[in-house]
Amino acid sequence: MSTFTSLLQAPRRLGRTEVRVSALGFGGAPLGGLYEPLEMDAAGRAVALALELGIHFFDTSPYYGDGLSETRLGELLAGRRPQVVLQTKCGRYGRDEFDFSAARLRASCELSLRRLRTDYVDVLLAHDIEFGRQEQILGETLPALIRLREEGKARAIGVSGYPLEVLSEVIESSEIDVVLSYCHFNLMISQLDAQLLPLARERQIGLLNASPLHMGVLTRLGPPAWHPAPPAVLAAGQRLLELAESRGFDLPMLALRHCLDHEGIASTLVGMTRPEQVAANVAAAGMAIPPEIRAEIDAIVDPVRNLTWEPEDQVARWRQG
Ligand code: NAD
Repeated sequence: MSTFTSLLQAPRRLGRTEVRVSALGFGGAPLGGLYEPLEMDAAGRAVALALELGIHFFDTSPYYGDGLSETRLGELLAGRRPQVVLQTKCGRYGRDEFDFSAARLRASCELSLRRLRTDYVDVLLAHDIEFGRQEQILGETLPALIRLREEGKARAIGVSGYPLEVLSEVIESSEIDVVLSYCHFNLMISQLDAQLLPLARERQIGLLNASPLHMGVLTRLGPPAWHPAPPAVLAAGQRLLELAESRGFDLPMLALRHCLDHEGIASTLVGMTRPEQVAANVAAAGMAIPPEIRAEIDAIVDPVRNLTWEPEDQVARWRQG
């Protein structure tokens, strides 16, 4: 068995839960058309190839394409439920549409189960909790998720979001199993290590790292128009692309290799819509980043490393709630 196949096929335990995920997870945001128009045929082949190559962990949300990503995954995974680990979310339904009430969460979960053609999900997360209010998330949302876990609708529950201090606060004051962080550990950023990892380890939280390609910045297609990163970060991404191509490397593969090396992360979630992407991302696990390329990458990234787009007033609003 080759190194990359064994790396991907050995499932990893998600924190203290009994859920086991593949080291590389299939991100479902692009299946909702969040990056570019979707070719359904190619997406179907991408999902089939992912399963064949050992990627059995799929992430989605009602937010991705207003239910489209869940519906498409339900179709593409029909008949494969025993083979896959399914994660979906609740609480975010549009760019500016959030509802973290217990009643909506329950209704949302039922709708997700119908779209995904199953009677339980493996993981259910409250989606982008920093847009909610701390008081409601801790006092109503998470207790509602815990009830759904007790009822067997979800095997594990948790939260996703961007500001690491918000994720840390929730870990410290609740009984969640899983945290999904995005754009905080990849070639351009390493804040996850100092700001979330030690606490997650101590509490045995399953840690998921999403957006290893910095939501498209580290791809030839480039970032979508809605990407929130400062212009200097986007410009550095373009320079990394030029560097990789001039040296005969594929930037997404370098970026994924970097993330897959991280031992504290149960699974790295990358959005995929085409079989070529699946093949490249799986092959990335078996490659090495030559030290001279690493040094050139660092020279480009260092001036913008750890530059985020976290609005301080958002975190303040969350706390005031
Ligand atoms: P990403 O960094 O994974 O980038 C996705 C983009 O890269 C897409 O355009 C995809 O087509 C492209 N891509 C993937 N592999 C490629 C390859 N080998 N070559 C060229 N292009 C390639 O960003 P993402 O999709 O936003 O993040 C991954 C997943 O994590 C999401 O799909 C979603 O499931 C999850 N996520 C969750 C949250 C949250 O809960 N708040 C936030 C971000 C991401």
